Amino acid sequence: MVEAFAVASGKGGTGKTTATLALGMALAADYDVTVVDADTGMANLLFHAGLADVDVTLHDLLVADADATVADATYDRHGMRVVPCGTDLSAFAAADPTRLREVVATLAADTDVILLDSPATLESRSAVLPLVLADRTVLVLQPTVPAISDGLKVQEYATTYGTDVAGVLFNKVHDPAHVDRITEKAGRYFDGPILGTVPEDEAARDARRDGDPLLAAAPESDAARAFRAAAADLSITDGGADAVADRFRSAVIPDEP
Ligand code: ADP
Ligand code: MG
Repeated sequence: MVEAFAVASGKGGTGKTTATLALGMALAADYDVTVVDADTGMANLLFHAGLADVDVTLHDLLVADADATVADATYDRHGMRVVPCGTDLSAFAAADPTRLREVVATLAADTDVILLDSPATLESRSAVLPLVLADRTVLVLQPTVPAISDGLKVQEYATTYGTDVAGVLFNKVHDPAHVDRITEKAGRYFDGPILGTVPEDEAARDARRDGDPLLAAAPESDAARAFRAAAADLSITDGGADAVADRFRSAVIPDEP
């Protein structure tokens, strides 16, 4: 079985990478999980996952005639398989993001859940690719009207490419009363459920600074608890690995979103 999720947002900095690793670690209790830093232009998962010093990354798989294999760029960390991406700008320039299809298809053969840490969807053309590849998307949004409006645009793109919304995760929440009001309204506009509200929590920033995923650094923090609860609400669909891999390989690369 395999199901691929894009962890996406409209703009950057909403907590996609934090959420990708947190959901991944929570789901890894029950599933074989692979997380991929598909934000190839603004990669930062390596810093969150203690992989800043590794030699081979996704960038090495996205160049023409790559010598590296997918296994070379896959690291066992925190109970998951992690495919980080490098931050070198020349490597990004040389990389062909469409090769991500083949990488994800290869990974799909041997895992239950793939989480694609995705670029901020509204910021560039290639940013929608993970959204196209995924079965479903988890939207990580701050609970503000502009962020929700961005999230609805992302939902529109996703739906256009046949990708369902698995749910919305409100992150960096300051005021639970305020978010209750927003959640009520947002619930009417999004196709998926509100998976959770994650509080603004110093533990998340500390974890990032120390190069550890939040669920490893502060498993009992309020934010970690909220991410675990959200993961418990994501029921994983059995996609049949071969069919899913074929779909990845043949995914149509979108023009300008
Ligand atoms: P993105 O991948 O969307 O750009 P990150 O996951 O890298 O966002 O998060 C951006 C910054 O916000 C990081 O410093 C991270 O530690 C911090 N952050 C994420 N979630 C929270 C939270 N719930 N509370 C406080 N800080 C957070
Ligand atoms: Mg990120």
